[in-house]
Amino acid sequence: MNCDQQDFDIPVVPECHVMCVKAVSPVASLKDMNMPHTSTLLVLGGGCFGLAAALELRKRGWEITLIDQGSLPHPDAASTDISKVVRMDYAQDEQHTTMGELSIRRWREWNARWGEELYHEAGFLVMSRYSLQEVGFEHDSHSFISQRGHPLRRTPAGTLRELHPAWNHAVYRDGYFNPTGGWVESGRVIARLAAEARAAGVAIHSNVSKPRPLFEGGRCTGVTSDTGHTWRANATLVAAGAWTPALLPQLQSVMWATAQTVFHFKPEDPRPFTPPQFPVWGADIGRTGWYGFPANADGLVKVANHGPGRRVNAGDPRTLPPGEEDRYRAFLSETFPSLAMAPLHSTRVCLYCDTFDGSFWIDHDPNHPGLIVAAGDSGHAFKFTPVLGEVIADVVERKSNPWAARYRWREKIAGISDGARATE
Ligand SMILES: Cc1cc2nc3c(=O)[nH]c(=O)nc-3n(C[C@H](O)[C@H](O)[C@H](O)COP(=O)(O)OP(=O)(O)OC[C@H]3O[C@@H](n4cnc5c(N)ncnc54)[C@H](O)[C@@H]3O)c2cc1C
Repeated sequence: MNCDQQDFDIPVVPECHVMCVKAVSPVASLKDMNMPHTSTLLVLGGGCFGLAAALELRKRGWEITLIDQGSLPHPDAASTDISKVVRMDYAQDEQHTTMGELSIRRWREWNARWGEELYHEAGFLVMSRYSLQEVGFEHDSHSFISQRGHPLRRTPAGTLRELHPAWNHAVYRDGYFNPTGGWVESGRVIARLAAEARAAGVAIHSNVSKPRPLFEGGRCTGVTSDTGHTWRANATLVAAGAWTPALLPQLQSVMWATAQTVFHFKPEDPRPFTPPQFPVWGADIGRTGWYGFPANADGLVKVANHGPGRRVNAGDPRTLPPGEEDRYRAFLSETFPSLAMAPLHSTRVCLYCDTFDGSFWIDHDPNHPGLIVAAGDSGHAFKFTPVLGEVIADVVERKSNPWAARYRWREKIAGISDGARATE
């Protein structure tokens, strides 16, 4: 295929581009790279999907313009907030376990590249009220990860009392500790990636009023905004998180925004809530969705629930449901009694872009040439940021990728209950 042609559905980057680009620094300009021609891409959305894709495609020689409706990081974006869990524990899900393993290796490399620790390898403590002999997320993760050679420490109630005294060992009978995993300072990572993208030559336009894909004659030809500005490119990647279904109504039957709450507590003495005695944790997470983090440098202890959430429109006011604080404190008094009365510092209502099956959505729109979607995070994508860029870039370039098939454009399958969560 001649890459100079203007109306190509899939901009194909010739091999020489890929080879040239791999040999140069990501901050080199296309002119420096002596590129014979350029493929242009508009990226709508600067969360972890959009930025990871922009950085990787820029490295491959694309000319990228990234447009966001807000600032970067956007305070309402899912990728923002003080922290996200990084784990490889995914029951028997081989793909996400493998992606988790690779992401963790890359988070360590990114720490080294940045010269500061934004990924904290505090480990992941997975506790249950039930024995690990029984089936479920905890049992399946433990056996699957052990089989792959990762050393896990079994944590029956006695060990829990000794090593993790904040826990109520009378309730939580069994579990395990995986030292490989932890948490990442997600908002700060987004700021870093945005700075790296700018330095690499990605043109970033933030605080653009109502940007949206422009369709002409059935194909996506660019992006337009309320200020009347129009950008045009060979292809447009919509990576707008929970705002995606509102921008692309053709996806509303397979993905939607769900509101999830987050609480930041500030105990007077944060020390009992720091690693190693208080790592990242899941409390019967496969059944209840409760999980949380050690105190961060500001002494904030974040607690959240990976549950079905409430279906909302992304533009709705972000309000807590009535009684939410009581629900959190009831959970804390049963699980971490010493945290139950801790002062509340702040709350957050954050939106997942849930797909009907919990898998991401990364593909070309088969009905609108020029349009590619990278969304449908289903509440668990941030940890994979270090590998997502390559997956999305391979999809954009229609190159084979071992992980992309799962995230293809697909029909809704009957029988899968919307909003069900098996700790995807
Ligand atoms: C409460 C909560 C807890 C989570 N915890 C974890 C966790 O522990 N571990 C984990 O791995 N994942 C976690 N996730 C999931 C993770 O945060 C998301 O998977 C990920 O951040 C999604 O990234 P995104 O780029 O798709 O969306 P976002 O981060 O939401 O970014 C979308 C961007 O698109 C922009 N945008 C919207 N509309 C437009 C438009 N019209 N034009 C241009 N730009 C637009 C927005 O301003 C925003 O910057 C959590 C999510 C939530 C909500």
